[in-house]
Amino acid sequence: MSERMPVIFVGHGSPLNAIENNKYTAAWSGIAEKIERKPAAILCISAHWFTPGSRVADSSEPKMIYDMYGFPDELYKVVYPAPGSPGFARLTRELIGDKVQFDNSRGLDHGTWSVLCRIYPEADIPVFQLSVDSRALAEEYLNIGRKLRSLREQGVLILGSGNVVHNLARVSWNMDGGYSWAEDFDNYIKENILSRKDENIVHFERAGASASLAVPSMDHFAPLLYVLGAADGTDHVRIFNDSCALGALSITSCLFAPNLD
Ligand code: ZN
Repeated sequence: MSERMPVIFVGHGSPLNAIENNKYTAAWSGIAEKIERKPAAILCISAHWFTPGSRVADSSEPKMIYDMYGFPDELYKVVYPAPGSPGFARLTRELIGDKVQFDNSRGLDHGTWSVLCRIYPEADIPVFQLSVDSRALAEEYLNIGRKLRSLREQGVLILGSGNVVHNLARVSWNMDGGYSWAEDFDNYIKENILSRKDENIVHFERAGASASLAVPSMDHFAPLLYVLGAADGTDHVRIFNDSCALGALSITSCLFAPNLD
């Protein structure tokens, strides 16, 4: 039995998933059962912390931020009072390199807490965030993920939170499923995740015309690349929440682990 922690990419979709019960949140609630032991800490790479250069939060008591607008009051009352992990944050900086800055100016954003409040509702596991580097090329996200692999041996659960397809300008709030271009792109990415052709995901433009509609900017797509880098060739992979939603989002998620039943 391996001690190595899994790596997870979650398509977080609407922030309402923090307070609504649906098929996606049911799957999130079941993830912890698939993880043999409680993580020592959780490193979250959220689409909603997109900064020039990499930053890591090393606060022992991270704040929470409600970085979404126009939602019901109930969503702004969600609390996720997890402690931080200054030790693993320092180690993360060492692994990636000196250019990484410590930054506690924000706090846990909704890309992190809307998902973790379902996976580990007790909020008793230390959580720290690494930002998505807005200056990096797709290949570099994969490389940073590779540098993070050793954290898994130390019990750190790496969680990327974004969306394979994310085009807010084209979201249709009453639509179930996705537009055909969204479904096409999601299928392309899924096939390449399952066959571990990371190169085709780094070069997602190979999907064709759907690519620029599905990934108009890198913020929501990049967390998947960090996760692919942190997974190695011996991990097994499982896709879950395999679907598009609201026309222009994909909730498709994947779990990499040494052992999967
Ligand atoms: Zn988002």
